[in-house]
Amino acid sequence: MRILVTGGAGFIGSHFVRSLLAPGEDTAAPPALVTVLDALTYAGDRANLTPVAHDPRLAFVQGDILDEGLVDRLVAGHDAVVHFAAESHVDRSIAAGRAFVATNVLGPQTLLEAAVRHGPRTFVQVSTDEVYGTIPAGSWTEEQPLAPSSPYAASKAGADLMALAYHRTHGLDVRITRCSNNYGPRQFPEKVIPRFITRLLDGRKVPLYGDGRHVRDWLHVEDHCRAVRLVLDRGRPGEIYNVGGGLELSNRGLTRRLLELCGADWDSVEQVADRKGHDARYSVDWTKIRTELGYSPRRSFTEGLAETVAWYRENRSWWERPSPPEPHLSLSAPERN
Ligand code: NAD
Repeated sequence: MRILVTGGAGFIGSHFVRSLLAPGEDTAAPPALVTVLDALTYAGDRANLTPVAHDPRLAFVQGDILDEGLVDRLVAGHDAVVHFAAESHVDRSIAAGRAFVATNVLGPQTLLEAAVRHGPRTFVQVSTDEVYGTIPAGSWTEEQPLAPSSPYAASKAGADLMALAYHRTHGLDVRITRCSNNYGPRQFPEKVIPRFITRLLDGRKVPLYGDGRHVRDWLHVEDHCRAVRLVLDRGRPGEIYNVGGGLELSNRGLTRRLLELCGADWDSVEQVADRKGHDARYSVDWTKIRTELGYSPRRSFTEGLAETVAWYRENRSWWERPSPPEPHLSLSAPERN
């Protein structure tokens, strides 16, 4: 199979590409060709693909998923598209939402259009549990109507609906995954786990939103990539698969664990104004992918988190690269000195 991976230089996409090309991958036959299409925005880094850079099956194309001509040529030469490329940070979408609509809605539409033009193609849309919005208790199944809160989540919901429309209208083989919060090495340090780790390793304070009681389910990036591969190999056209990690934790609980792993205490925490529209809790029911495709998470959160902290400790040069200013720096002045 020839697979086009969009956003393959980002956090999850690069893990996915490395796992596709890894020997001993246990889900299916190895791919004949893996092409990464990535615009290398601030969140993308070719170094994320260094471990597989010399694999003759890997091709890298720097380009934009909004570039119709380029997308058309690339989709023509592949059997499947696994679509990760996105503007992915909620805070940035709150500060300025326009790029999110362009990349996250028009981007997949451009890919879907090309997939229809070139005949039978499989299109895996990598989405998020945030499209369901907050849930006070219990877990959302795939049947739950969408109720996104942030512009980011709304743009992902728009992409999901667009993908399903291409399935219903054109019969395109579309499959959607909706996963919970990912963590692991090589996540850009604007997301909470690497942001807290890198600040604590620098002896700085960490900004905890509101009362810190927001609950998230944590999924190791390797488990997520295995789930996406299962859906690509054995998922059914037109179906949505929730992917969970099995560990729900409040942001306070997460902060406590990170403080301990980084050798800091609660004095390093500064409670800051809550994020606008902050969803209190996400939780997905992933019975469907478990029963249909045999997925369950393998990584323990305790081990995975310790390993992630160790990776950031050992790879300063990766995260000290220049990056755009954070959109929502609500820390008080003294901490920034
Ligand atoms: P990321 O921000 O680390 O990576 C995004 C990648 O997309 C980058 O390499 C970037 O250069 C590329 N990109 C952005 N705009 C592009 C464009 N116009 N054309 C081509 N490439 C472009 O994101 P991530 O955390 O790896 O997330 C990957 C996917 O998974 C996203 O679709 C995101 O919505 C989804 N997701 C992520 C999480 C999470 O916890 N990180 C959770 C649920 C779903």
